[in-house]
Amino acid sequence: MLFGVHALVWTGALDAESLRAAIRNTKEVGYDFIELPLLDPFSFDVTTAKRLLAEYDLPATASLGLNTSTDISSEDAETSAAGEKLLLAAVDAVREMGGAYLCGVIYSALRKYMAPATERGVENGLSVLRRVADHAAAAGITLGLEVVNRYETNIMNTGREALRYLDRLGRDNVVVHLDTYHMNIEEPDFTSPVEICGDRLGYVHIGENHRGYLGSGNIAFGEFFRALHRAGYDGPVTFESFSSAVVDEELSRMLGIWRNLWSDSRDLAEHALGFMRSQTHAVETIGQQ
Ligand code: MN
Repeated sequence: MLFGVHALVWTGALDAESLRAAIRNTKEVGYDFIELPLLDPFSFDVTTAKRLLAEYDLPATASLGLNTSTDISSEDAETSAAGEKLLLAAVDAVREMGGAYLCGVIYSALRKYMAPATERGVENGLSVLRRVADHAAAAGITLGLEVVNRYETNIMNTGREALRYLDRLGRDNVVVHLDTYHMNIEEPDFTSPVEICGDRLGYVHIGENHRGYLGSGNIAFGEFFRALHRAGYDGPVTFESFSSAVVDEELSRMLGIWRNLWSDSRDLAEHALGFMRSQTHAVETIGQQ
C-alpha cells in the first residue's frame, strides 16, 4: 500500500511557494506521494510542479471534480465538450509530472443535483470518458472514478453503482475509487464495497466522517483496513482532510468546509500517516494467528 496526502492538508494555493511547502512537508513527514488538485489544469503550473517533485523525489497523483460548466454528464454538447477538454488537459498534466493516476469526480459535476441523472446525460459522459481513458492509457495513466455521496453527484453513490458504470464504460484503465467519508453516508458497511469491487478497486481516500483527525469520528477504520487487507489491495491510499484553516476557494466551498477542525497541518498529517500505518500493521498480523 502506498500512502499519500491531499495537498489541501497543506495549502489552498498552487503557486510555486505553496507547492514547494506542500511537497517538502509531504516528503518530510514520510508519505509516499502527494495528491494534487487539478480543478483547473489550464492554470496549473505543471513545469514548476514537475521540477519540485523531482527536487524532493516525490511522486504525485491528481484529482479533480468537474463543475457545472464542464459537466460531461450534461445533455448540453458544449458543456460536455468543455469537460472533455479539461479532462484531456488534466491527463496531459499528470503525464508531464510522471504521474500514474487521475481520479475524483471526473464523470459528473461535483455538486448537489436537483434531479436524477438522465440516460442521455449518462451516455454523453460515457462517450467522453472512453476518449479520455484511451488518451490516458496511451500515457500509462489509470483513471479512478470516485464514488461520492448523493449531495455531490447523481451518477453513482455506491461501489456497486460504480461497477455497473464501469461495465458500460468498458475500459480496463478505469477503476473504482472509494472514499470512507462518502461510504459512511451511502454504503451498508465498510467491508462489502471492497469485496464487491475486488480487483477493480484501484484508488482509496481515507477521511473521517467530519473530515478531521482520523480516529476522532465514527468511521470503522478497523473494518475498512481489514477488508482492504483481505482483498489484497496494494494501490494508492490518500489521506484527505479539510478544515476552514486551509481554503481552496472552489473546492472548500463545494465540499461545505465551514468548520475549523484543525489548524496544525503538520501535526494532522503526521498523525494520519501513523494512524494508517498502525491500522495496516495490525491487520497484517491476522494471517499469522
Ligand atoms: Mn475523496
